Amino acid sequence: AIQLDSVAKKYGDHTVLNNVSLSVREGEVTAMIGPSGAGKSTLLRCINLLERPDTGCITVEGNQVDASTNITAKDLAALRRNVGMVFQSFNLFPHLNVLRNVSIAQERVLGRSRKEADIRSMQLLERVGLADKGKQYPSRCSGGQQQRIAIARALALDPRVMLFDEPTSALDPEVGLEVLAVMKELAGEGMTMVVVTHEMQFARDVSDHLVVMANGSILEEGDPEQIFTNPVQPRTREFLRAVL
Ligand code: ATP
Ligand code: MG
Repeated sequence: AIQLDSVAKKYGDHTVLNNVSLSVREGEVTAMIGPSGAGKSTLLRCINLLERPDTGCITVEGNQVDASTNITAKDLAALRRNVGMVFQSFNLFPHLNVLRNVSIAQERVLGRSRKEADIRSMQLLERVGLADKGKQYPSRCSGGQQQRIAIARALALDPRVMLFDEPTSALDPEVGLEVLAVMKELAGEGMTMVVVTHEMQFARDVSDHLVVMANGSILEEGDPEQIFTNPVQPRTREFLRAVL
């Protein structure tokens, strides 16, 4: 589970997050939508402290960090230990083959042996439908394959929650569907997920909880079907009209 309490962030005079509070329950998929510049990516990156909020409290699986105090490397490691993240750009290691991309952090971070790590990596590659790609290099894989490798790599560290920042927006729609299918399966297995997305169909069909952001604040949140069919806020209505 994830809890954000009054998370605030400014760049200079520009308020990017305006005391945002959010609860993500165990096993739930939370989708975050909203116009460009709303602060979705910034909020997502605050969850694992890739972005340091100015103030506010972040709790992930019981590990709590108060942004306005000194955060130790130990606190940071404890919090990040449970979080996997997948970005729009896949960020695979180009000089490592697919299997090594998935296994290397297991050795470095979890202390698994190469053999253990490779076995686990193969299981994960199978799970994302890429069991035959282990020896390939990322540059030889399609965008959709690379993103599925990135998901396998994140899962290899046994995270309790997964964060996705527009995982399909660099992909052709067809290829994006392969990635969304993997995410849907993960959701079905009970993974706690926060997904920033422009895929309204995915948000509507797969998420348990929908968060609409604009101007650094949560405009409204709740049942996805409810919000899609009957948004309360005029700004949500306007946004949905523009994207649907
Ligand atoms: P998009 O849908 O385009 O990805 P977003 O909702 O993810 O948008 P953010 O990337 O979180 O929005 O950005 C929120 C605001 O913060 C924007 O106005 C952006 O210009 C600003 N911002 C983000 N990162 C920085 C930075 N490093 N320095 C200054 N301003 C930034
Ligand atoms: Mg963004």
